[in-house]
Amino acid sequence: MTESTFEKPVTVIIDALSYLSEVLKNGLKKDLQKHQKPCDDCKGTGLEITNQIYGMSDDPDKSKLFPYDNQYIISCRHCHSGVVNLCEFCNEKLSRFNDCDCPDALHEKDIQRAAREQELWDKAIKLESSDDIAKKMGMYQSDDYPYNDGYFASFDEFIEAWEDSHEPDDPKPIYVWGTRSISLSLNADDILDRESEDLHEDALDNIEGKDELQKFLDEWCSKQKWTTTYYGENNYAIRIPWDN
Ligand SMILES: [Zn+2]
Ligand SMILES: [Zn+2]
Repeated sequence: MTESTFEKPVTVIIDALSYLSEVLKNGLKKDLQKHQKPCDDCKGTGLEITNQIYGMSDDPDKSKLFPYDNQYIISCRHCHSGVVNLCEFCNEKLSRFNDCDCPDALHEKDIQRAAREQELWDKAIKLESSDDIAKKMGMYQSDDYPYNDGYFASFDEFIEAWEDSHEPDDPKPIYVWGTRSISLSLNADDILDRESEDLHEDALDNIEGKDELQKFLDEWCSKQKWTTTYYGENNYAIRIPWDN
């Protein structure tokens, strides 16, 4: 492209004020709730100006990469629609994404977290550690167990770890969470389906001895003991056998 065909952008100034003074002539009505105030940054309008700068590759003036402007109005990035929420404890402005981290707010969060957890404990089915369902789980989970993300296989281990890090008269937890587990399993039908995709159309129907293959797969999978994967869940609470 030659210099003569380059057309420099035409600068226009948008008369934003006359538009805004017309639509805003009655101001903006806001029904503020307790712990809310108009945003200081946008004076409660919810607006701010941004600038999308740009350049043109055929611009003969190479002195600046992005010499041109496109200013426009966007939502204020410091508030929600002109209003900021205040912490109900310290009255400080809350950021748009984070809760306040003042001591009282943190304390309140702790209380709510504890209440949610208590609700889970209350709802859970309670089992003794000697119960068959509990024994079959093979693994248990508790935030009071300091290793292995709280997963442990034996209550002796759990009690030993707890006693190592607590004083004898510290209040003891009563329950830990149960787990569910899944192990490697292979399905003969799925494998044959997949592996016969490129074979002739009756190939799948002509396969014999599927049951034999499934039996072999089951036996083989049962030897892969180290694939068993445990998930903590909140259905069962297992009583810790402190007295045994
Ligand atoms: Zn604002
Ligand atoms: Zn606060």
